[in-house]
Amino acid sequence: MRAYVDKDICIGCGLCADICPEIFSMDDDGKAVAAYMVIPDDLIDSAKEAEQQCPVEAIKIE
Ligand code: SF4
Repeated sequence: MRAYVDKDICIGCGLCADICPEIFSMDDDGKAVAAYMVIPDDLIDSAKEAEQQCPVEAIKIE
């Protein structure tokens, strides 16, 4: 599984980076970016929580 952020939708609230900083970080443009890597098993739950908590549904985990 990988995480994707749609920067056109992201409002830069920072929640995903708070919930799962191993995968999500804030880019220079103030929008979230997902690490380009297969999500390790022990981070899948927190990555999915970030997906669910994103207020604008900008995150996809697939
Ligand atoms: S939680 Fe959603 S809106 Fe907030 S920074 Fe992350 S991707 Fe952007």
